[in-house]
Amino acid sequence: MADTIFGRIIRKEIPARIEHEDDLCLAFHDVAPQAPVHVLVIPKRPIPSLAQVEADDAGLLGHLVVVATQLARKLGLADGYRLVVNCGRDGGQSVDHLHVHLLGGRALGWPPG
Ligand code: 5GP
Repeated sequence: MADTIFGRIIRKEIPARIEHEDDLCLAFHDVAPQAPVHVLVIPKRPIPSLAQVEADDAGLLGHLVVVATQLARKLGLADGYRLVVNCGRDGGQSVDHLHVHLLGGRALGWPPG
């Protein structure tokens, strides 16, 4: 797959406010936050989107969700939060490297636009 801005963040070629890093994933604050807390959790393996996920990726995807929930606790989102994965053009995905948005710190509207 083509390299993306997130590949450059993983390789530390461009800076990001990193909240968590392990062998499988990196979590960092969104550059254009849509809520008081807006963190992106991304796999180090560059899967373009949910559309390319295979059954073998179940453990990795579960790990991304678990890390997001741990960060929600760490960042004080005791009143709730939302995890979002945009997929493809209609899903509003703008960076072709799968990522989980962790959003919180205010009451979030529903349904999404
Ligand atoms: P998407 O629209 O693909 O679901 O989400 C991509 C997110 O990546 C957007 O919320 C956008 O603000 C964020 N983003 C894009 N470029 C950068 C960057 O260079 N650094 C950081 N920290 N976030 C970025």
